[in-house]
Amino acid sequence: MTENIYDITIIGAGPSGLFAGFYAGMRKNKVQIIDSLEIPGGQLTALYPEKTIHDVPGYFAVKAETLVTDLVKQTAQFGVPIRLSEKVVDITPTTDQGVYQVTTTKSSYLTKSVIIATGNGSFAPKPLKTDEPSDFDFSKLGYSVTDKQQFAGKNVAVAGGGDSAIDLALMLSEVAASVSLIHRRDAFRAHESSVDKLHASDVHVLTPVTIRNISDHQEGLRIALSDDRELDVDHLIVQHGFLSNNKDIRAWSVDLEMKRQHFMVDSHYQTSCENIYAIGDTANYDGKLGLIVEGFKEGPHAVNQIMTKIHSGKLTHAHSTSLF
Ligand SMILES: Cc1cc2nc3c(=O)[nH]c(=O)nc-3n(C[C@H](O)[C@H](O)[C@H](O)COP(=O)(O)OP(=O)(O)OC[C@H]3O[C@@H](n4cnc5c(N)ncnc54)[C@H](O)[C@@H]3O)c2cc1C
Repeated sequence: MTENIYDITIIGAGPSGLFAGFYAGMRKNKVQIIDSLEIPGGQLTALYPEKTIHDVPGYFAVKAETLVTDLVKQTAQFGVPIRLSEKVVDITPTTDQGVYQVTTTKSSYLTKSVIIATGNGSFAPKPLKTDEPSDFDFSKLGYSVTDKQQFAGKNVAVAGGGDSAIDLALMLSEVAASVSLIHRRDAFRAHESSVDKLHASDVHVLTPVTIRNISDHQEGLRIALSDDRELDVDHLIVQHGFLSNNKDIRAWSVDLEMKRQHFMVDSHYQTSCENIYAIGDTANYDGKLGLIVEGFKEGPHAVNQIMTKIHSGKLTHAHSTSLF
């Protein structure tokens, strides 16, 4: 039974959770990372994969997605599992003292400690808002594509003006009968080379327009645009970015002190519950900065604190990585 209990469960595979996972693995803990998104990286992947970051030590400049790739490789050295598309929905104390049960949308796990690295909360796609009130069932719309072949031979519209909308439109144009990209401005918030590819492609670019209304039409949809054009398509995929919030966490069974959706922590990053720590953007304390390096500092500190409590006789502070 004991071998099925994790020493540390990290919630969130953003930069803070990934680095804490690496460090905990390097220190030979039985550790896992769980994230609700399909891919690791947190805000870096979901919000700004193409942005160059200049304030990560050791990197003169690094693209957000490259930093995530390197963090994942660093964590993988120690075989730390990263469970994706799995949202944590509860943490419950068990009758076995010092063991928590972490319940997710797919499974449940026993763990001696938890590090919460949930940033501003789990991400959900921003829903489409039409200009006019609509009776249309918006749950019929798509917000992501896992298999482009599902759109082979179809007429597809993509709504959005960022990198993800353009990348998706270009990808779908390889298989779809037609792809229209609907964006409210003429300028796109995307990498110049992607915009160049878009204009060179056969994607039908509709700007500057908004979606006035949507209605069912035959087997598909009729999209009424703000310039009075109408577009009949089989599918509309919305790429308006993500919203995140930590509100769901208030429903967890453990009583964690929060302030404005963030966890109050002590000087060792422990929350109001024994052996539950919070690091990165989600941790709140006096002087907190919302920077990647903050999470990089807090993760190892929390892991060392946990180790003094759950393993007797381990070093409190590791001075060098020669330990592995
Ligand atoms: C546009 C932009 C530019 C930025 N530029 C910089 C910069 O140049 N330099 C810098 O230092 N910082 C920058 N930041 C801030 C930086 O991105 C954050 O400080 C950093 O992402 C925090 O990392 P994190 O791991 O704590 O949280 P996040 O990156 O938010 O990751 C949290 C993860 O937790 C997951 N999660 C949440 N709830 C659950 C749940 N219930 N179950 C499972 N998983 C869950 C989420 O899916 C997410 O993957 C920028 C932020 C933005 C928005």
